[in-house]
Amino acid sequence: MTLSSWHERARVLRPDGRMLVDGRRCASATGQTFDKRSPVDGRLLGAVAQGQAADVDRAVASARAAFEDGRWSRQPPAARKKVLQKFAEGLLAATDELALLETLDMGKPIRFARSVDVPAAARCIAWYAEAIDKVYDEIAPTGPSALALITREPMGVVGAIVPWNYPMIMAAWKLGPALAAGNSVVLKPSEKSPYTAMRMAEIALEAGLPPGVFNVVPGFGHEAGEALGLHPDVDAIGFTGSTRVGRRMLAYAGQSNLKRVYNELGGKSAFLVFPDFDDLDRAAETAAGSMYFNQGESCNAPSRLMVHEAIADDFVARVARHAPAYAPADPLDEATVMGAVVDEGQLRTVMGYIAAGEEEGARCVAGGRQARADSGGFYVEPTVFDQVRNDMRIAREEIFGPVLSVIRFRDEAHAIALANDSAYGLQASVWSSHIDRAHRVARALRAGTVHVNQYDEDDITVPFGGYKQSGNGRDKSLHAFDKYTELKTTWLRINA
Ligand code: NAD
Repeated sequence: MTLSSWHERARVLRPDGRMLVDGRRCASATGQTFDKRSPVDGRLLGAVAQGQAADVDRAVASARAAFEDGRWSRQPPAARKKVLQKFAEGLLAATDELALLETLDMGKPIRFARSVDVPAAARCIAWYAEAIDKVYDEIAPTGPSALALITREPMGVVGAIVPWNYPMIMAAWKLGPALAAGNSVVLKPSEKSPYTAMRMAEIALEAGLPPGVFNVVPGFGHEAGEALGLHPDVDAIGFTGSTRVGRRMLAYAGQSNLKRVYNELGGKSAFLVFPDFDDLDRAAETAAGSMYFNQGESCNAPSRLMVHEAIADDFVARVARHAPAYAPADPLDEATVMGAVVDEGQLRTVMGYIAAGEEEGARCVAGGRQARADSGGFYVEPTVFDQVRNDMRIAREEIFGPVLSVIRFRDEAHAIALANDSAYGLQASVWSSHIDRAHRVARALRAGTVHVNQYDEDDITVPFGGYKQSGNGRDKSLHAFDKYTELKTTWLRINA
């Protein structure tokens, strides 16, 4: 589609900001709404229902009723599969509509909203749909006088609380396994990107998901999010977001019903480049591409680039040469590869970190400034800091913007120590043409995913999650079923 047709579609768009509970769109109990503006150009997108405790109560009651009467939870897996497959097809059929909503809501380029976010969310739902009638339960190898069945049962009501950086994909990572396993879900999207969640729920209803099985309550974290986290009738929380709020999720569980809490949190991932790697330009291009994808607003962005001191000057120059290719531009232009950061607050946070890097003595070798201010939106140049020490704030704290910190290392042991010297442990990568070194370093890195000589591979078939303060539990893959099912043992006596 041309730039002017995307702009025309954006101009006439009037997204529905009402919540979706018990199969119906509705206002919040108080009637309160909040204004949602687009980071693309500051335009008002509309008023969104401001869900609060009473709305969460209603959504949880609807989800519980649906769970208990078995309208979804007791359907045969093959029947759930069919509905979820149709749900995935419905998402794909609505690609342009959903992509436009996502771009206007949180600022990512339309080309990636269309080619990454919508298809990945649909593939996730379809993959769990396909899986659910192929997962077997177990019989334990006990003696002949008894039979011990080990079965998986859905937990009941799952609360899903998700961030704004990949709104549909993060929601799908919870919805796919939770719904396929037979749970009911109450989804609380981020107040910064609420729109696609409600459309996903409508598309699920159209696909045949019974009312009450998938409810969406938009609103603020300290209102709707807290109410869901504290709710005594929610059995599990699938949370993706910051480590700060992840701590609260654990506290909410402790203060209420000890619901299961699965946290997928922040990251400060290390990208280790050794001098023996034989294609430094590909490594530099990948470092820039992975860092600036999604405006640097990715939990797994390789934001600590660690380079051996013998090649550091050359490597930093290569990365700085690649950075301008990611200069922010109009997100509705299909040629754009970097869009707007999510809002003015995030712009201020990112610019604050850039100032902190300069104050602490790091050297800005690319970018470093706000861009496209006259658009009315929020944009930051792709930025590279050289001469960063691992104790500086820009090396320790998650910036969640297009800012890369380069840290130099002396040898393999130093590289591993620096990489692991972080509160986070989400991902890491090692670049080396030496097979022993690649394996040695990969083993030593304390991270949920380690990439060797690449950073781009990703698939629904593999678990995603972190060590340390990057969280617990794993999204994606068959392992995600562990989060949304209880294991039950049933002993049967056999009279021989
Ligand atoms: P955030 O923690 O501020 O918010 C996440 C969600 O929690 C939102 O829906 C928000 O409304 C809600 N929330 C906020 N305060 C709350 C409270 N007091 N009680 C209950 N709910 C509350 O995070 P964000 O800014 O939306 O997202 C960015 C963060 O998400 C980054 O740290 C990023 O690394 C992380 N993230 C992690 C993964 C992963 O898989 N590990 C994936 C994507 C994003």
